[in-house]
Amino acid sequence: VHDLAALRFNNRYTRLPEHFFTRVAPQPRQGTRLADVSPDCARLLGLEAPLTSDASSEEALEQLRLLMAGEQLLPGMDALAQKYTGHQFGHYNPQLGDGRGILLGELETEHGKTFDLHLKGAGRTPYSRFGDGQAVVRSSVREYLASEYMAALGIPTSRALALAVNAERVQRETVEPGATVLRVCESHLRFGHFEWLAHSGRHEDLKTLIDHALREHFAECLPEHLSECLPEELTEPLSEGGAQAAADQPLADRPLADQVRVTSALAMFETVITRTAKLIAAWQAYGFVHAVMNTDNMSLLGLTFDYGPYAFLDGYEENLVPNHTDQAGRYGFAQQPGIGLWNLERLGIALSPLIDVEALSAALGTYEGELQREYARLLRARLGLPDARDEDMTLVQQWRELLAAGKVDHTHAYRLLSHWDVAQPAPETLVVRLAGERGPHGNSAQARDEASAWLERYQARVMAIGLSAEDERQRRLAMLGCNPLYVPRTHLLLEVIARVEQGDDTTLKALRQRLTAPFFRPEEGSLEAALALGQAQGVDAEL
Ligand code: AMP
Ligand code: MG
Ligand code: MG
Repeated sequence: VHDLAALRFNNRYTRLPEHFFTRVAPQPRQGTRLADVSPDCARLLGLEAPLTSDASSEEALEQLRLLMAGEQLLPGMDALAQKYTGHQFGHYNPQLGDGRGILLGELETEHGKTFDLHLKGAGRTPYSRFGDGQAVVRSSVREYLASEYMAALGIPTSRALALAVNAERVQRETVEPGATVLRVCESHLRFGHFEWLAHSGRHEDLKTLIDHALREHFAECLPEHLSECLPEELTEPLSEGGAQAAADQPLADRPLADQVRVTSALAMFETVITRTAKLIAAWQAYGFVHAVMNTDNMSLLGLTFDYGPYAFLDGYEENLVPNHTDQAGRYGFAQQPGIGLWNLERLGIALSPLIDVEALSAALGTYEGELQREYARLLRARLGLPDARDEDMTLVQQWRELLAAGKVDHTHAYRLLSHWDVAQPAPETLVVRLAGERGPHGNSAQARDEASAWLERYQARVMAIGLSAEDERQRRLAMLGCNPLYVPRTHLLLEVIARVEQGDDTTLKALRQRLTAPFFRPEEGSLEAALALGQAQGVDAEL
């Protein structure tokens, strides 16, 4: 697709009852500049235009700019703000909803997928309460870059197509320039959508939302795929009086039969538990702290969702709490697995008017195991352990203790390890780096001994597999392919934000390029080259 006006929309959310949302137009803004477009996200949507540099591209970029300026919707869009609620920092808040983000439309791609196009920072809505409906450059740059980085790591996330900066002056702690992000994901359904209907006693509406979620997003949880069976069998038998009205209703919009719904909704809940467990395992494995895990920020699809004051670990700090307003440390790094379960329990409570509480509890009982299994899988990949052994989690635990003791840089530690050919003794630079910042002069002899001791255990573990020289090379190549060189560090983000605020988007584009190909340098161009270069220059080349 080269012309955005030719995109096709299928706005499924608008077919839900009218009080589920409010139709609202984005606020138009003068002086909007398109700061950057993500080629990866454009490709996902089947948009070639922003990727080429001919005249059709210029037109498409202008269409995108007008869209993000709130000046012009695309044909077929039907913009709305969604109502939801949720638990914030442990307390239920009934007053939530899209307060500054607007679902512009649901885009049907050529590949048969449907994506919400959501404009964040689009202006006030009926759910804004005291908020101004704005987003600032600071938070928008952070969301834009982190979304595309997480996707490049293979961690489930909402995406960001583009970032636009406008002439709005927004009052935060200081006055900041305004911005919008075009957020893209297959659904914006949050745990809080279900909590809203359950807590306000709207049980018929709750059934309607569950049917919608099942049909549009969890079809695999229905008894058979909807396309493979007669919809009549799945829907409520038509009552005498209601026959005519129901007959006018498309089959796809009729309520599911009660028993079908109960069984399928439980299967959906189990799927959400598994996805959430795997998501949080990935956060723990890659050192991501979401920082605002309120249930209105929990995606039903198990995506990393609603980026706020997040951080990636620099020095390995299990207790990192990047959100300064989170004084109790509720959403610190080490708390995330437990909070994930607590949030799933809130979703379970919201489903309890329909599903047996014992079945919900049994499903929740699988969370911990799913999370541990996925975490072990990811850590084995990061540490380059191609087979699984019982003692591996002890090795992982000792690795974490080593990193924590020396506040060793979390991203670099894995990258350094990836370059070590274990047929050789551990390079001195690796020992020194892993010993970290301990002792008055960088690190003490004791710290280096501890690092050496761990490296010897690791070496013995890898050698015991009995890999050929070529297999050992492949092992390191695989490690380089899952241990990123780049990570959106807070100081890098601050630098980019300052530049974008001054009207210079070049560092933004450069950082986006690195973060979306995070496993080798642009000049290396491939993992093979990264491996070769790392060998030639020694491990310090990565730092
Ligand atoms: P968050 O902390 O980003 O998850 O937002 C919590 C709630 O506040 C959601 O309902 C948001 O839509 C709303 N909200 C956040 N910022 C603003 C804003 N600047 N204007 C209006 N509503 C907002
Ligand atoms: Mg939110
Ligand atoms: Mg937010």
